[in-house]
Amino acid sequence: MTPSGEQICYVDAYARSAEARVAAVEIGESVAVVLDRTVFYPGGGGQPSDRGLVIRATDGRSWTVRAARKSEGEIVHELEPDDGDPPAVGDVVRVDLDWARRLALMRTHTALHALCGVVWRDYGALVTGGNMEPGSGRMDFEFERMSGDLVDAIEASVNVELAAARDVRVAVLPRAEAFAIPDLIRTKVNLLPEGIEEIRTIEIVGLDLQADGGTHVANTSEVGGIRVTGYESKGRINKRIRIALVDPA
Ligand SMILES: [Zn+2]
Repeated sequence: MTPSGEQICYVDAYARSAEARVAAVEIGESVAVVLDRTVFYPGGGGQPSDRGLVIRATDGRSWTVRAARKSEGEIVHELEPDDGDPPAVGDVVRVDLDWARRLALMRTHTALHALCGVVWRDYGALVTGGNMEPGSGRMDFEFERMSGDLVDAIEASVNVELAAARDVRVAVLPRAEAFAIPDLIRTKVNLLPEGIEEIRTIEIVGLDLQADGGTHVANTSEVGGIRVTGYESKGRINKRIRIALVDPA
């Protein structure tokens, strides 16, 4: 389904605010607002949704957006229920991200892709899942021979790659073209539903290429360094590696 609202986060991850008009308001367990355009990321792929504010142009009244989500293709903003009467359809507003939090998530997300790229390149281990908070995250791998020594080597290699100032590029490919890329098959592209005609990819040039819907920094130098903060066995084959940004703020 083609959404009616413009979804800026997928095109410009650095857009932190936008002028918009309220397109729909739904009052249920929370107050849900759809705008004709937004910079909010609705969550997905292990990256939590954004938080921030909706501010009405006419009187400066503001509402806290505690979370966002996708519903039938649209990005829905969930307002704090204690914030009183919601804005009305047609109101002109500005949406503002909690930018410090979003930028930390972008840096963390790119760091996790660098980790995947290194673990695949050096050990041929597949990713099975991942999750993140601002400044830290974890990835799960099919990585039978993982050990403490290997984890130290992985940390060092990831930091070399981040310091190499590799560009991070976003592309949207027709499905058939995406399926022809062997590197994409190893990740989640083959799990995507039939109906999806276009596949968005994130490439850390020279290191990693994945099908991904998240927001990333434009260059690995913006991540800074990472530390491996832990690793654990989730079974004989499945292993988890936890990382944190050296400089989370
Ligand atoms: Zn990702």
